[in-house]
Amino acid sequence: MVEMVKADFRFARAVPMMSLLILIITTQMVPTGTQATNNPLTQLNPSSGDWDQYHNYTAINDLLLDLNTSHPSLVEVFSIGESHWGKSIYCTRLTNENLTYEKPEVFFVGYHHARELISAELPLYFIVSAVENYDKNLVVNRMLDLVEIYVVVALNVDAFDVAPSNEWQRKNVHPIDEDEDGLFDEDPPDDEDGDGFIENLVAWDGTQYSTVRWEGVDDDGDGSLNEDWLGGVDLNRNYGYEWNSSASSGSPHPSAEDYRGPEPFSEPETRALRDLVLQHEFEYAISFHSGAENIVYPWGYTSQPTQHDQIFREVAGNLSLLVGGAPYYQAGSWYTTSGVFDDWMYGARGIFAFTCEIYTDHTAWHHEPGPEPNTFWERGVSQFFNPNPLMIETTVSKWMPVFFYIANRTINERGEDLNLDGKVDIHDLAMAAHAFGSRLGHSRWLFIADMNQDGRIDIRDIALIAKNFGDEV
Ligand SMILES: [Zn+2]
Repeated sequence: MVEMVKADFRFARAVPMMSLLILIITTQMVPTGTQATNNPLTQLNPSSGDWDQYHNYTAINDLLLDLNTSHPSLVEVFSIGESHWGKSIYCTRLTNENLTYEKPEVFFVGYHHARELISAELPLYFIVSAVENYDKNLVVNRMLDLVEIYVVVALNVDAFDVAPSNEWQRKNVHPIDEDEDGLFDEDPPDDEDGDGFIENLVAWDGTQYSTVRWEGVDDDGDGSLNEDWLGGVDLNRNYGYEWNSSASSGSPHPSAEDYRGPEPFSEPETRALRDLVLQHEFEYAISFHSGAENIVYPWGYTSQPTQHDQIFREVAGNLSLLVGGAPYYQAGSWYTTSGVFDDWMYGARGIFAFTCEIYTDHTAWHHEPGPEPNTFWERGVSQFFNPNPLMIETTVSKWMPVFFYIANRTINERGEDLNLDGKVDIHDLAMAAHAFGSRLGHSRWLFIADMNQDGRIDIRDIALIAKNFGDEV
């Protein structure tokens, strides 16, 4: 099996299905000789971090900053800006900092939406797993030796303080005068009956439920209930690409759940992310959400495909296979959205950006008798978006291959044109020759010269470059 795959290895990039095998074979192809072992990718089992409860803002940052201290040559944690409430939004860079050659860059972000707590757990779990398994798992070694991985675990950082008291919260906390009475955030929903949940009162007409009102009291005595919530702007409608397109989601109305904000990048959180992206050359990016299980890609604002639809479909299809068959499609063919992260990343920066919706539970909703006949208190929103805390690790483990696939793909795409000047020629051969005889971690090691990705630079790599000599990109 291994021999056959080795022989076919060069064709992996041309055959989408084959490229999936790269992940699996890499563990077997990189020479051993260190204490590293070949753990399956989904069983990295970090020892630090408490994975049977959701992490809040402080817990996430404590964990990241601890890793920064304990593994200074692998982890760099830095602030990319501040939220509305002045909290730092942290980005974590993972890479072997002792290897200073140029590396491709990839980007991951979680927690745009307040109630989607699981979307922060996944990138956090990846960071801890990757760092703890460096020098123990060869796939992890290769990834951190060859790629710079940037991760913003949580973008909507203020929302960690809101989600526990209102599990419906989606937007950020930017004070918005939703009912246009000159006051801000003066009448949010309340836990009327003190049971710890803000429920939705629905009426049953014999065939379907319809919303009557949220649980709450008339906080400002104006005769209306819950007419001005805490916040906010939907951060994933606030990016500056087709921000005000006539999409079905991305409302101009402040009271809407998907309010896009007063202007593109009106929010400090999206501006922080934008500025980070502008300072880098990310090749791929993934944004994590919950409330569905699927993988989507641009365009979001229209049902028309991008000119790179084939590539988007190939990557999304491979990711789908790796995570057990989640549906994948162009976002705009699901429903159209304006000002979304993926569209700006691709449309403004040429980055192949995807959204992974990693969890939902449609059976989460349940109903208890309400105050009037045929009315019911509807509960379950938190469980719709997030698994039981005891299932966090199971849920995020399933999506871990996404990180490895994306990182690996950037490595493979370097191809034979080592110096990236658009043609395969004597200069590329010279670069490989210079690195000849070196191995992963060696001072002369040049990752892009390891054409067959077997962890050493030898005559086989030279042969692959020679075979494509004279090619132009
Ligand atoms: Zn979301």
